[in-house]
Amino acid sequence: MHELSIALEMLDIAGRAIGGPKPVRSVRAVVGTLSGVCADSLRFCFSEVARQEGFGAAVLEVELRSATAVCRACGGGHVVEDFTEGCPACGSLHRDIKTGYECEVVSITLEDDDDGECSRGEGNSAGEVARDGAE
Ligand SMILES: [Zn+2]
Repeated sequence: MHELSIALEMLDIAGRAIGGPKPVRSVRAVVGTLSGVCADSLRFCFSEVARQEGFGAAVLEVELRSATAVCRACGGGHVVEDFTEGCPACGSLHRDIKTGYECEVVSITLEDDDDGECSRGEGNSAGEVARDGAE
């Protein structure tokens, strides 16, 4: 199962960020709608694996990020819901996808940590989960 390996990798990232497995309240992740990841399945796998790997009752909070693109013809930015539809401004189908492929751990909240969030900087590639393309 694809989501199982992603959950394992997210916990590996979390473990490295906090210095080994310890009780975690929550892990926040950004998952793009083009990433091919099923958020419900990922949340389920994450909880199961977290308990087994020593992270306690960690909950995965998934922030879904929609697909956005910049039109190559007119430069306009837009949300892409249907890839067969062109740019809403000029109708062009030529575009550069800007968001939607994300699958990243963005922050970790420890169980015994009231306000201490271990945030990862935006664009920090260490938090990015490698996509193996296998569904
Ligand atoms: Zn356009």
